[in-house]
Amino acid sequence: MIDKTILDKLKTEIINTQSITIVPHLNPDGDAMGSSLGLKSVLKNLGRDVEVVTPSGFPKFLSWMNGAGDVVDFEADKQAAIQRISTSDTIIFVDFNSIKRMAELGEEILKSSATKVMIDHHPYPEDIANIMISVPEASSTCELVYNVISSLGWDKYVDKEAAECFYTGIMTDTGSLSYNSSNPDTYRIVAGLLEKEIDKDKIHQLVFHSNSFYRMKLLGHVLGAKMFLMPEHEAAFLWLDKDELEQHNFQPGDTEGFVNYPLSIEGINISAFFMEKDDKIKCSFRSRGDFPVNLFSEQNFNGGGHRNAAGGESMLSMQKTIEKFKKELNTFYLNYKENVK
Ligand code: 5GP
Ligand code: MN
Repeated sequence: MIDKTILDKLKTEIINTQSITIVPHLNPDGDAMGSSLGLKSVLKNLGRDVEVVTPSGFPKFLSWMNGAGDVVDFEADKQAAIQRISTSDTIIFVDFNSIKRMAELGEEILKSSATKVMIDHHPYPEDIANIMISVPEASSTCELVYNVISSLGWDKYVDKEAAECFYTGIMTDTGSLSYNSSNPDTYRIVAGLLEKEIDKDKIHQLVFHSNSFYRMKLLGHVLGAKMFLMPEHEAAFLWLDKDELEQHNFQPGDTEGFVNYPLSIEGINISAFFMEKDDKIKCSFRSRGDFPVNLFSEQNFNGGGHRNAAGGESMLSMQKTIEKFKKELNTFYLNYKENVK
């Protein structure tokens, strides 16, 4: 349940503001783009001036979403993004809970005197907004945004295009309703979205079955040559360096989901994926069961996320990052086992 006073505050803000900008996290995924563009459609239907500014580009498999073509990407057009941020009265953060998750765009946001709103489902939010709606129990930010809109009595402004966006985030954040989706409310919300006449099979097809030839080759390469097991820690890890990515004509989003594959190996409950990006190593962690990859990432890789899905980064070389991972996982795992006994 979302606090009524906070909902009232949000309603007043949206009704009285002039221009609204919605910002998702860096490297936005299905949930981040779905909640941004879905919310944008609804607020536009309410007659508001709304734009989405992203800290970086988004994967091509989301480009079919309504409004995707109008997104201002800070990395691609800094001037346009700064202009929009500086003239916004309200900025809504979706699907993240810390300034760090906006990378360089965060500096522009900090300069702005706009009212800040957060709508998010990551645990342990930073106090970075005037109106904070943080519900870690929600399957996805899309579920939460739809819930907020319905609670404000604005369900009639959710059109088919917005419903498609919201369904996408629920689908991608729950592995097509295979995890993190045992709350009946999630299904009630999906039912509400289906009533808007979305074609859920088509959405599944667009998101999961629009792989490029190169992505499939890269997946074959990483699973065939770059997957390593740590069976005594119930773990496996994968890694890709810049050269391998370039050889496979890498496009943003191409490695989405790679980290999940090792979890389908019997006895493997922790998975990690390391990828060279710019001058850093981007880290992704997944687990099944109680092992908290968000805490592991926070303590060792300057990151965070959810218990079973987290990310982080490393400034070390790939080899040193992997050495660190093995060493820290050993310590963390033994500690974890000790505590669950
Ligand atoms: P992914 O591995 O798909 O990039 O991220 C998995 C989850 O961890 C997502 O919920 C994402 O928001 C979160 N996450 C990814 N990278 C970071 C990071 O660098 N810092 C924090 N705090 N969370 C992250
Ligand atoms: Mn999410």
